[in-house]
Parts: sequence; C-alpha cells; structure tokens
Amino acid sequence: MLHRRALALAALALGLAAAPAARGAAPAAPLRVVTTSTDLQSLVEAVGGARVEVESLAPALHDPHAVEVKPAQIARLRQAALLVRIGLDHEPWLPKALAVAGEPRFARGGAGDVDASRGVRLMQAETPRLRADARPHMHGLGNTHYWLDPENARPMTATILEALARASPPDRAQFEANRRRFLERLGAGLERWQRALAPWRGTRVVVVHETWPYLAARFGLAIVAAAEPTPGVPPTPAELSALITRMRASKVRLVLAEPYSSPELLRQLAERTGARVVTLVPSVGGDPAATDYIALFDVNVKRLGEALAAP
Ligand SMILES: [Zn+2]
Repeated sequence: MLHRRALALAALALGLAAAPAARGAAPAAPLRVVTTSTDLQSLVEAVGGARVEVESLAPALHDPHAVEVKPAQIARLRQAALLVRIGLDHEPWLPKALAVAGEPRFARGGAGDVDASRGVRLMQAETPRLRADARPHMHGLGNTHYWLDPENARPMTATILEALARASPPDRAQFEANRRRFLERLGAGLERWQRALAPWRGTRVVVVHETWPYLAARFGLAIVAAAEPTPGVPPTPAELSALITRMRASKVRLVLAEPYSSPELLRQLAERTGARVVTLVPSVGGDPAATDYIALFDVNVKRLGEALAAP
C-alpha cells in the first residue's frame, strides 16, 4: 500500500517536472557557431536569427591573415557545433588554433566545417602565385576577400543555410525565411549602392593590400596597381618609387587603404603623388556604423562617394 502510494507520488512529481517541456515552453538551446570573421558572423546571424549564438575568432579591426586566437576562444570553439571560415589560404593562423582545440570535426571536410567559399567565383585565381622565396604571402589560390562583393552574400548564405539546417533540421523553414528577408535587404542595398557610385564608374584607383578587387569590380572602379607587390609583402623602396612614377603618369587620384595599413606607406603615397587616401572598412564592426553586413557597404559606399567627389 505504502509502496503504491510512493509510486503514485513519484509519477506525480515526474509529471510536474515534465510539464513545461510538454507544453513546449522551454525553447531549445541556441546553436553555437564560431566564425573566422565578423562578416561571416553577421551572415550566420542573418540566416540563423534567434536560433544561433555566434562568435568571431578575428576582431573587426585586424589584418584577417594574421590573427592570434585566445584560450577563451578555443574553449568556445570546443563547444561550437559549426566553424564557418573564408577558406583557401585566407586564415593561415587557423590550423594552429584547431590543433590546440583538438576537435577533428572542424578539420577540412569534417562534420562541423563550413567553407563559405563554396559556390563563390574567385577573382585572381587564374595565375597561382608560387614563390621560390620564403617571404609570407597570401591569395595563392585566388583572392580571398570575396565577401566584399555584396552579390557573393547569395552563395555564402546558401552555404550557411545548408550547414545550419543540417545541424538543426526542425529550424530549416525559419532559416529559409530569415535568408529570404536578408536577400531582400541586400537587393535594396545593391540598388542604393550602384546608384550612389554610378557617376564614378571607370575611375582608376590604387590599393594597398588587394582587399578591394571584388568591391571595385562590382561598382566599376579600375584598380591599376597594388602597393604590396605580393599580397602580404610590403613594397621595397624601389618598388614604391616605381609605383609612384606610375601613379603620377596615369593620374591616379585615389588610394584605397585598410585601417591596419602602414601609416608611413600611406603618407608617402599621398605626399609624393597628391592622391587622396580613403580608408575603407574591410569587416563588420570596423566602424561603429558598420553594425552588420548591409551596413558595412553603406559605410564603405559613403566613404568612397565622399572621397571620389572631393575636389
Ligand atoms: Zn588578403
């Protein structure tokens, strides 16, 4: 008798404990995602919405090819379901971080590995850069700054959508709806940016690092030279002099720089050619107004438009 009462009480207690879950009141824990950049973070957030919790390994204002991953980030990586990266040779610092994390699912092609370059048509991929010397360089397989063409957000978010839906199948419809909304905002943005930069199509510019060929191609600017003779390698004095001669001869009026470009190099380019230097924002969060992927282009198009319109 006592025994039966104890069972009944136990059943009651179990029933009470199970009640909130049975009513569906307790939401599933968000999917943890780590990305290698703030741009990828913004795109994962756009598709994942409230169902994801995303952290970027690289800070917003930093050379994306040289990142120091902190122990707290390694800990986050171990708890993550997915790692979304730019791919190719963009993140030479990543293999070391992954070796420390010791999570085989994030190895290339592993279950948690998401290569955002899949489906993106790369620029500068036709002549692989093979160097005999040991100087560090990047872009050996093609230019990896492809997120700076807003059209590339279409294949990138398609890859992200598939990865998120694989990790959380019941949320697929929500992810698809989120992506549709994002692509509508992107389409409106593209019209706005094309309109703003239309008067400057064909303008010749020089870049410091080859961060901007995708942006330049999308909006009709012609990059005539890069100050870095090879991506990631600063120019020698002789190379700099040759560039300056070329810029004067072809009357290049604008240099596109990164927030982490060498101030001394920018000073020399400006002083010796009379060109204006405009520092663009390569990644989300690199300017307080660049709050997400769409706002990143609003900020850059505004800066470009002002620099191009200046006398
Ligand atoms: Zn680069």
